[in-house]
Amino acid sequence: MFTDSHCHLSMPELVQELPRIRAAMQEARVDRALCICTVLEEFEAVHALAAGYDNFWASVGVHPDNEDVREPDVDTLVALSQRPKVIAIGETGLDYYQMEERKGGRSIAELEWQRERFRVHIRAAQRVRKPLVIHTRDASADTLAILREEGEQGGAQAAGGVFHCFTETAEVARAALDLGFYISFSGILTFKKAQELRDVARFVPLDRLLIETDSPYLAPVPHRGKVNNPSYVPFVAAQIGELRGMSAEAVGELTSRNFDQLFLGGTDA
Ligand SMILES: [Zn+2]
Ligand SMILES: [Zn+2]
Repeated sequence: MFTDSHCHLSMPELVQELPRIRAAMQEARVDRALCICTVLEEFEAVHALAAGYDNFWASVGVHPDNEDVREPDVDTLVALSQRPKVIAIGETGLDYYQMEERKGGRSIAELEWQRERFRVHIRAAQRVRKPLVIHTRDASADTLAILREEGEQGGAQAAGGVFHCFTETAEVARAALDLGFYISFSGILTFKKAQELRDVARFVPLDRLLIETDSPYLAPVPHRGKVNNPSYVPFVAAQIGELRGMSAEAVGELTSRNFDQLFLGGTDA
């Protein structure tokens, strides 16, 4: 079996195709998926998927790229995370990618709101003892620094979690692993130019690995450029298998166990 640890099934291009996607998942033996929330405004739609299907779960959080949306506070995140089948806080983190094009030429100093929002998520996760789903792009130093400042050094209060859609260096992976976090790889791992990332995937301990699609984005080879969906996550497993001398199925099994360990408290809830 395979578990997609990060997808956006509530987005229109996927939710409209849900019966077809669920059939494709079954065919591909992708038994489970975690549906990720990116704005509070979509939380009910994300949660409805988890409430409607035994094999879907939900997160609650606001993505660092989203501006002009409802700003989360700790109490709101805590309250929503108590709903049934909400198993993670996020996605949250920092995104300094293409500041000129995507952030209107603002400086990193001007993105203090992103860092404050990230701290709010960490505090909520610690309060409810649920793991964080972390998005970090071109911002790894600040991401790691804030995690440390907020007490994510593996102490009793730490929420832990996963660095999702990992695209950073081996050094960043080591730092995340040292903090006790898991590392999740997406279809990017199958892209021709991702050799450096494949080198990272070679050394991440097998008990800290997760796989994801981040669908509808980032479809793995051989579906690159198409709309992604959770039934494609075995292609990520196959790529890791190739790097580690294992079958795709074995990677599917071990990453499913890791998913249980991180998000379901070691039980198969
Ligand atoms: Zn992300
Ligand atoms: Zn995402």
